[in-house]
Order: sequence, then structure tokens, then C-alpha cells
Amino acid sequence: MNNEYQECPNCGSTEFLTVLNSYEVVSLVDGKWQIIRTELVNDDEDYVTCSECGEDVDFDISEQRGIITLRTPTP
Ligand SMILES: [Zn+2]
Repeated sequence: MNNEYQECPNCGSTEFLTVLNSYEVVSLVDGKWQIIRTELVNDDEDYVTCSECGEDVDFDISEQRGIITLRTPTP
């Protein structure tokens, strides 16, 4: 794995939108809330889209391959 931002194969954007269900675990430390970690709640299908062209990205396949892979419509 490298640290290069992977691009949308459709438009080349490296920014994506997600509506992954997640929440921050916080603790109150010295009078300030601090985020300890983020936890995902995977009870819905993961959903990522390109912020530029709006193409649907396949969340799991992209993670497996390490490259942005668009969600192909099932034939
Ligand atoms: Zn795109």
C-alpha cells in the first residue's frame, strides 16, 4: 500500500462523500470533551459516492483492491 490518494476512475476526484453510520466515543477530560475513537455502526449497507461526479463507489471492493472501484449495476 502507498499513501497516494486514489482517484475516481470516472472524473479523477480524490474526494468522496459517505453516509457511513458512525459515532464518536468521547470522554470528558479536564473539562473538555475529547474524541477517543470513531466507531462504525454497520447495520446498513456502506455507501460512498464521488463528491464530484456522484458515481457510486463500491465500498468493500475498493478497500480490498486499494483503488477506487465504481459500483457496477447488476446485469
Ligand atoms: Zn467522480
